[in-house]
Amino acid sequence: MPATKPETRDAPAGASSEHSRPPVTRFASSESLSRAELIGAPVRWPRPSRLEAPLAPAAKKMSAGLLALGLRSVGELLEHLPSDSREARTVAALRAGEQATVSVEVRTISARPVRRRGMRPLVEASVFDATGRMRATFFNQPWLLERYPPGTRLLLHGKADARGGFSVSHHALGADAATGVLAGPGESDAVAHYPAADGITSTQLLTLVRGARDALGDVPEALSAATRVTEGMPDRASALAAMHFPRLPGDLETGRRRLAFEELLLTQLAFLRRRAARRARTGAAVLADPGTLGERWLESGLPFALTGDQRRAAQEIAHDLRQTAPMQRLLMGEVGSGKTVLALYAMLQAVGHGHQSALMAPTETLAEQHFATIQGLLGSEVGGVLISTALLTGSTPAARRRDILGKLCSGELSLIVGTHALIEPDVRFQALAVAVIDEQHRFGVRQRAALGEREPVQTGGGSTLAPHTLHMTATPIPRTLALARYGDLDTSALRELPLGRQPIETRLVSGEQERARAYEELRTELVAGRQAYVVCPLIDDPDALAPGAAANPETAPSAPESGLRAASAELQRLRKGELAGYELALLHGGMRPREKQEAMAAFASGKADVLVATTVIEVGIDVPNATVMLIENAERFGISQLHQLRGRVGRGEHRSRCLLVGPPDAGGSGRLGALVRYSDGFRLAEIDLAMRKEGELIGTRQSGLGQFRIARLPEDAQVLERARARAEAIVADDPELCAPEHALLRVALERQLGADAAQPLPA
Ligand code: ADP
Ligand code: MG
Repeated sequence: MPATKPETRDAPAGASSEHSRPPVTRFASSESLSRAELIGAPVRWPRPSRLEAPLAPAAKKMSAGLLALGLRSVGELLEHLPSDSREARTVAALRAGEQATVSVEVRTISARPVRRRGMRPLVEASVFDATGRMRATFFNQPWLLERYPPGTRLLLHGKADARGGFSVSHHALGADAATGVLAGPGESDAVAHYPAADGITSTQLLTLVRGARDALGDVPEALSAATRVTEGMPDRASALAAMHFPRLPGDLETGRRRLAFEELLLTQLAFLRRRAARRARTGAAVLADPGTLGERWLESGLPFALTGDQRRAAQEIAHDLRQTAPMQRLLMGEVGSGKTVLALYAMLQAVGHGHQSALMAPTETLAEQHFATIQGLLGSEVGGVLISTALLTGSTPAARRRDILGKLCSGELSLIVGTHALIEPDVRFQALAVAVIDEQHRFGVRQRAALGEREPVQTGGGSTLAPHTLHMTATPIPRTLALARYGDLDTSALRELPLGRQPIETRLVSGEQERARAYEELRTELVAGRQAYVVCPLIDDPDALAPGAAANPETAPSAPESGLRAASAELQRLRKGELAGYELALLHGGMRPREKQEAMAAFASGKADVLVATTVIEVGIDVPNATVMLIENAERFGISQLHQLRGRVGRGEHRSRCLLVGPPDAGGSGRLGALVRYSDGFRLAEIDLAMRKEGELIGTRQSGLGQFRIARLPEDAQVLERARARAEAIVADDPELCAPEHALLRVALERQLGADAAQPLPA
């Protein structure tokens, strides 16, 4: 590493004449350097162009492997990061028959012919480390005799036998004998382990990386010295070195975090710059008149008082609408938290200022529901003003559609609700000032942008104005994820449910006795005229398929052998057992659509007292008369899923409860304990995230969290927070990244996220 770089740079040759500056001293001493010494100092500047040198692999087969990994240049090789590090064993610790890696030195090496046709001579080496000696055998590679002369440090991967032999399957040059110290007894070396491919092994990759080690000096440093000092981070080259050539088990992670920080910093910078650019580029209608329609409606047109969260969100929205730049806000709140009220408030503010507003939902059903809710909330008029509204979806009849389009264009229609139908090319607004996008993650970026850019208000000066945009989602997103995914949006959260909503009492039920009592409770509710859900993790009993299971009637009434209950078996069991005499309906994903509809209708109409179901009831069922939910094998479900399920009760005027059947140790600090303690979906989502381990983020990967190459969420949540704070500081100081110390950051930004990153991207 060019360690002398900063000193020699800051004090050019003439510096000695500048008395104000302290003299440049020898490294780690107070002895000053002469002018000649300064000029002669071995300064090395990184030359990133050298990283583009093509890789020169030894064998053809390897090239195919490298290509499969997408590695063509030295730079790309250095960026191919190890997935973990393996501990190298000492020779003394090898066990016969086990695959292991050892770090050794060659004492002698020789070849001897093999008495089988077609086999090349065998190479045998006597190798050692501080704990012992062994005989390593390399097959079919006679050239190793020259490549690994005595004194060579080697990394060998292979299998030891019981007689002091070691047959080598992969080998690589080890650390330089001058710097590396062979592991002694009880010690071990960490060896980087790489994602490999057909044609190239992890050990071969390590050999290549070792050969390219000098190129680390050409790796550009995107972070300014100030950033590195503030964050206590090594430079990029050192971080890469720590990952490729770990000395201690923790090196890999230290290096990875530094690289993850840079990756997250770049994405946050892109978000913030995109937001800043959008603000600078497009104006928006300023909705600032006091006492206009939306405000009047919020104050006197509602049959209920807003919750504290709703009031706060309304203020945030009002503030955004008063700006000359378009609002870009994400409103999060679970179903029933009262998002639509706020959406309507924003829309009415537009209407009150003589503009138009639109709400776009991802499905026709949702659009229809929103339209109904909005009409209900509006009544026939607001404060004496008649508001013209319409619904536009794919199934709107052609004549009606033509009429709507005409009125949107003329401005006669001031508030519209719809689906993608709203962003078809022939839809023109006269003056769209507020756009609301519901369940925005279900639209693509382009579609979201399409409404956001739709027919801006034409102003006299010929400049255009973009609508204020409010994105809504019913999924509580923990702050970390919101930052990672929607870092360019402002956020408002509705955590409290509207007053009057009954809290759901949640309890853990374990053991047969408690379970019997739980069913007693459930029956009490049924007797009182209420309804109940019983949820099971499986559709069919897996044990029923096993031979002999049915032939053993004694075991049938209790839990099946797997311990997991199945909806269809449970229905049969309950009919004869705990719920004999009640009307039960079955609902699971394996049923035909018509059967499902019948089951749901039976339950909704009250004909069925109990719905025995799988998790299909998570979506779309709303039966206010249902007051009990009993969840079997609750330990098998995720926190968010249980919370969603629980949301099916507590929708009416009656007190509701949720009974989680699980093992006795499932309470406490575990997932079920969290559900018992918290009803706030945001809190639960945060706990859920914190409890997940790497590799369990399947659901979030789909929704775009797997987008990082190095960073891992949720583990890197704190790194992300720091990256965000740093990005905010950088953008506040130097929004265009034109300061010299940010030049390389800008280059990295463009390289990692494309030239687009510097460009504004709407929505
Ligand atoms: P979301 O869109 O978040 O699912 P809605 O806005 O549709 O929620 O509200 C759900 C129901 O609660 C609606 O009937 C609405 O009128 C009602 N509601 C909203 N806010 C309140 C409140 N503060 N107090 C009482 N009821 C409310
Ligand atoms: Mg709603």
